[in-house]
Amino acid sequence: MTTQTILISGGGIGGLAAALSLSRQGFSVTVLEQAPSLGEIGAGIQIGPNAFHAMDALGVGELVRAKAVFIDGLVLMDASTDEQVCVVPLDEPFRKRFRNPYAVIHRADLHSALLEACRKDAKVTLRTSARVQSYSQDAGGVRATLTNGETLEGIALIGADGLHSAIRAQMLKDGPPMVSGHTTFRSVIPTEQMPEELRWNAATLWAGPKCHIVHYPLQGWKVFNLVATVHSGATEAVAGEPVPTELVHQAFAHVVPRAQRIIHAADSWKRWVLCDREPQEGWCDGRVALLGDAAHPMLQYMAQGACMALEDAVCLGEQLAARPDDMTAALEAYRQARLPRTTRLQLASRAMGEYVYHPDGPRRMARNAWLQAKSGEDFHISLEWLYGHGRKAA
Ligand SMILES: Cc1cc2nc3c(=O)[nH]c(=O)nc-3n(C[C@H](O)[C@H](O)[C@H](O)COP(=O)(O)OP(=O)(O)OC[C@H]3O[C@@H](n4cnc5c(N)ncnc54)[C@H](O)[C@@H]3O)c2cc1C
Repeated sequence: MTTQTILISGGGIGGLAAALSLSRQGFSVTVLEQAPSLGEIGAGIQIGPNAFHAMDALGVGELVRAKAVFIDGLVLMDASTDEQVCVVPLDEPFRKRFRNPYAVIHRADLHSALLEACRKDAKVTLRTSARVQSYSQDAGGVRATLTNGETLEGIALIGADGLHSAIRAQMLKDGPPMVSGHTTFRSVIPTEQMPEELRWNAATLWAGPKCHIVHYPLQGWKVFNLVATVHSGATEAVAGEPVPTELVHQAFAHVVPRAQRIIHAADSWKRWVLCDREPQEGWCDGRVALLGDAAHPMLQYMAQGACMALEDAVCLGEQLAARPDDMTAALEAYRQARLPRTTRLQLASRAMGEYVYHPDGPRRMARNAWLQAKSGEDFHISLEWLYGHGRKAA
């Protein structure tokens, strides 16, 4: 095999970030995306300082900052009583400590910052309508076979093909992801439609019994992103299915009137049934490795799935650059570097849902007492492990 190209299956946030990271380390990359065009769904995303550290390393930090909204805090409201439980300040001391801000952004703006950088990069080839079906490998290289029968060769293959990854299915044979039984409804509304008394410069979370609602401004305050999650008992994975507004109204009929007004502010909703997986060790197979949701899908309750994919990408580039003549060893070093942290996030995301977002009765009271006793600095200290990762020295 004469090619020196690295193949990436999937052109989402993880796949494009990996392409940039590898090209910055001198590798040629081909991204294979199954969809006819490259893009992201029309919703918001929260990005912590750790993701900005990664985006700065990829050279897209400024592009993303230009489109982001820098919020003042993470606000937790009790959706059973309408009281404020706590605020994690995202002010100057936070930004100074972590040397980057916390922000919210439209997914399309984040994805297009990565895409623009990939398009300008002569070492990155982007292919659409290219669905990877399987791979094979030998001592000389790896081959990815597309569903149209075409085969591409490379020195390594990165499976960044998301929750239902075909590369993972072949590598780990661990079946479909676990359906959580939690349904998320999403909507983006013009700011004028948002109840005026709730137009806060914050990522606000209303925590109710077995449900929660999140809202924050996006796109220069033109719109508000709404995310409402409920324990529905759903047993099948669903992504982006339109649902009648009455269904969402009913699901949140038990929360305080102010929180219900958020739900009633939207006139169209789509639903996702959330999935994750048990942490798994084996996301490398010789010259093939997984990245992002394909490797470590998590519930969204730490708002870190995409942040982890960005961090993965930076680590992947560094490890391959350190061992360019031994892809198998380089990918194994990447796996070992990322596994403890991504496992921690998978488990923390579940725990966050159970103990912070969705408790009721005495558990709700215990949560409030625990969080109300914390100062802003307490929160910053406890987030050091998460947001300090990848921070540049002063
Ligand atoms: C409701 C919700 C809210 C969230 N909020 C946040 C948040 O605030 N902050 C955060 O950091 N994360 C958040 N996340 C998680 C985040 O969306 C994901 O972790 C992230 O999008 C994963 O990126 P990825 O590139 O690994 O996978 P994906 O985004 O799934 O991209 C995979 C890509 O691969 C392509 N593909 C799939 N199969 C193939 C194939 N066989 N061949 C070729 N291409 C293929 C797909 O078309 C897609 O383009 C949230 C998730 C949900 C559900």
